[in-house]
Amino acid sequence: MTAAEFKNAVREGKTPNFRDVDLVTCATCAVISGISAVMTIPAVGGADYRDCTSISLNGIECIRGKVNDDGSMEVTVEAAAVSPDRTSETIPKNYCTGDLLRDIAEGKEIEIAVNGKDGILEDIIFPEDIVSARLYACIGAGENGCALVNGGEKPLKNEHLFQPLGADFSEAFVYGCGEITPFVNDPDLRSMGVGTKILVNGIIGTITAINDGEDSEGVFAGVKVGGPSLSVSADIKDMMPEFMGGLATKSGRESVIAVAVAIPVLDSESMAALSVPDKDIPLPVIDLDKSVHVGDAGYDAVWQDADRSIEVNPLNCLYCGGCPAGSLCPRKAVILGGGIIQSRCISCGRCLNTCPGEVYSMNPGNITIKEGIKEGIKEGMSIPIKLRLSDRRRAEELCEILKEMIEDGEFTID
Ligand code: SF4
Ligand code: SF4
Repeated sequence: MTAAEFKNAVREGKTPNFRDVDLVTCATCAVISGISAVMTIPAVGGADYRDCTSISLNGIECIRGKVNDDGSMEVTVEAAAVSPDRTSETIPKNYCTGDLLRDIAEGKEIEIAVNGKDGILEDIIFPEDIVSARLYACIGAGENGCALVNGGEKPLKNEHLFQPLGADFSEAFVYGCGEITPFVNDPDLRSMGVGTKILVNGIIGTITAINDGEDSEGVFAGVKVGGPSLSVSADIKDMMPEFMGGLATKSGRESVIAVAVAIPVLDSESMAALSVPDKDIPLPVIDLDKSVHVGDAGYDAVWQDADRSIEVNPLNCLYCGGCPAGSLCPRKAVILGGGIIQSRCISCGRCLNTCPGEVYSMNPGNITIKEGIKEGIKEGMSIPIKLRLSDRRRAEELCEILKEMIEDGEFTID
């Protein structure tokens, strides 16, 4: 079963038993900063990489590594790398590592620039020319679940926020896929460890490290939020592009990733963990203004009492100059004239706030403070969700894909 099928059965009072289910596929689709890649780049245009002083792919500077006997070179693309604003029409502003990796997965041509002793050599390579390309990513405890609020008197701005965060606890930005997240369903990490096979952006990869969060609590926005974090690795070239890509912030350094894990139903303990619904999963609420954890909400308001995706009504389009919804969409998913490129949209909700024509509609929900009240926030306080930085719809799709791969024998459990 997928996690969504399992949880819906629990909500309907039909909790599956051991005869009904042996595995539950769980997933998360998160916005993270920690995505990097190691690639082996072919020699181009007679360039001798032993003499080069720098190399870039679509403007993103790579760290040079070993030059192989066949002239290819190993390079690392760092997690926080951003292409400088440049004249190339094909490279948008704030193009980052996540965008480059998605372009490789989409099979797009890549501009390579090699700075050598004879000057700069520019050429085009295609993903099939790249000898190997492997993604490395870390999904931290915060990205697995927290809500950001601002208890200050002024809207809060920083380079990692997609838009200013409203003052006086007037709005929340939310991370986490709630009840279908792997860590929620296997809190004791009985089925996840270093070397465990998983699905990363639709392709089989492995877990390379797990921090269980016990010795060093996860830190997000400078605040301890607790919970485990997960490091993963997988080949890039056959990934499904709709699960990946960059996100345009002022720094352009965020990326999207989706990871799915098959969690076996081992005993009553694992059955109990798999039965926990959105409403019982704590959502830590962090006041970014004071950098403190001010309380906890639940995920029911985020994913049960809200819409999962955006509705579009193109007839409302005002054809306003510059299309603010399009220029401010962090995924470049808005089409002028009132459309959405579905494979790019993460249902974050930003276009709701930036389109004057009400072309886009979605109920993004509210969070309600339940526990751990302090620093001016009141129990029962309801805060409208302005932005969602996790995509439950996409995570549920990945759960389905993993389930089908298991049923078809394409993904085996060791
Ligand atoms: S902002 Fe909205 S109404 Fe204006 S052009 Fe863009 S989609 Fe149309
Ligand atoms: S919800 Fe709107 S702003 Fe967000 S990614 Fe989708 S189209 Fe862009």
